[in-house]
Amino acid sequence: MKEFELIKHFFTEQSVKRKDVLLGIGDDCAVVSSTENQDIVVTTDTLVAGVHFPLTTLPKAIGHKAVAVNLSDIAAMGAKPSWISLAITLPDVNDDWLSEFCAGAFELCDYYNVQLIGGDTTQGPLSITITAQGLTPEGKYLSRSGAKSGDWLYVTGELGDAALALQHIKGNLLIDNELAEQVQKKLDFPKPRVLAGQALREYASAAIDISDGLLADLGHICQASNIGANIVLDAIPLSDAMNKSQLFDDAINFALNGGDDYELLFTVSEDNKVGMETALSHAGTKITCIGQVNTSKAISTTLNNKSVLINASGFQHFYSKENTKK
Ligand code: ADP
Ligand code: MG
Repeated sequence: MKEFELIKHFFTEQSVKRKDVLLGIGDDCAVVSSTENQDIVVTTDTLVAGVHFPLTTLPKAIGHKAVAVNLSDIAAMGAKPSWISLAITLPDVNDDWLSEFCAGAFELCDYYNVQLIGGDTTQGPLSITITAQGLTPEGKYLSRSGAKSGDWLYVTGELGDAALALQHIKGNLLIDNELAEQVQKKLDFPKPRVLAGQALREYASAAIDISDGLLADLGHICQASNIGANIVLDAIPLSDAMNKSQLFDDAINFALNGGDDYELLFTVSEDNKVGMETALSHAGTKITCIGQVNTSKAISTTLNNKSVLINASGFQHFYSKENTKK
């Protein structure tokens, strides 16, 4: 198949046809109409085979994940995703692989009414770059920089499963088949918190999506907002699979340092707390309060109401020996 036929065959067959796309795939540029009283948020994320996903990852999961990581960034801004472009580098043209990749990518796009409007196709080691755009009411986007001392710290969903799955795939630990399947689904098919992000627009003072682990991404909010925060370790939401397969201190390490969860981390003032909790329960999103913002400019952690220290190698030493199951 020639490059042009390939593009036409695989990338123009999407069911979403948005009214604000004046010109889609096929010309030198796409043309979208600008919307009055709306801001446009723009993000780009690249996935390189063997770096951002294991080489054994199925093409459908790669397509899903490439879109999901970008929509997750759009969600963290409180925006509604609208358009994406796809720059894909392929080692060769494999019809079955491309069909599955597109099925994974388009399933998520179709669900959120996001249209693929252009891209680039090249030959080389497998790598996928997506640029996504989204809309927010003028001046209403969320950012990392609005957190204030006294605000409450929340996360959506459960943390650490994707990192647990990755360690299982790498053979660094062994978990039960059924539990492994559950966490692998989280690694391969992360669900971007698109509706939760939009619901948070009215309530959150700052937000970020957790792609690099809770500690790292909370660090970004702290730096951007010029504040510090305390995390209550016993409050961190963990999945059944995590609880059943890991000791508490290992589970907490996965949650603190593991990446790829794509949950939202956000801060809410005392005044907005009830409104936010109501809005998010309407959006059907599980949320957990995991701590509070303070003026310290550092991240601290507590367990059983006592402060515990974080060191570079994590938490394996904070748990007293008598309490471990090892
Ligand atoms: P040009 O040489 O002008 O950059 P291309 O031949 O690269 O044009 O692309 C032709 C059309 O196909 C353009 O509209 C481009 O946006 C689109 N396109 C190319 N690759 C992809 C892709 N992977 N996904 C979506 N659209 C693509
Ligand atoms: Mg081109």
